[in-house]
Amino acid sequence: MKLQKFFKYAFPIGVAGIAINLLLFITNWYYELVVPLIEDTFIEGALFHFLDNLIYYTPVIFMLLFVAYIIAGHIYMKKVHITKEVQETEKLVEKNEKIQKELDEKAEFLKHKYYTNCPNCGSVREENANVCSFCGASLIIKEKKKQ
Ligand SMILES: [Zn+2]
Repeated sequence: MKLQKFFKYAFPIGVAGIAINLLLFITNWYYELVVPLIEDTFIEGALFHFLDNLIYYTPVIFMLLFVAYIIAGHIYMKKVHITKEVQETEKLVEKNEKIQKELDEKAEFLKHKYYTNCPNCGSVREENANVCSFCGASLIIKEKKKQ
């Protein structure tokens, strides 16, 4: 999943991004570096003012983006984690149901007594068989059930 890769290291990357941009903002190194480039152009007035502010606050914008990235990553990875847990739980439930079914069958099997030879055709009962493997007759010795 692509999103999972994108958010996997959201926290360390986000923190690093914030740290770098905080440093840029504090030192204004970035601002001092970029503003002279537009000061020499023909841009004037409001547009220059806008660009001036934009460049000055760019590190802040990036810091906010990295904060959003960390938060989104946290929420997303939590969701992925929960989904995985649900899937694992469902698998366990399915497995338990299968085991329960097998145990029920075994218990049902042990409830009865069986003929060692088929009462119908006389062939020897195969191990764990309910019915004759030869003619299909029931091998269960019928008792009066207590009800
Ligand atoms: Zn038989």
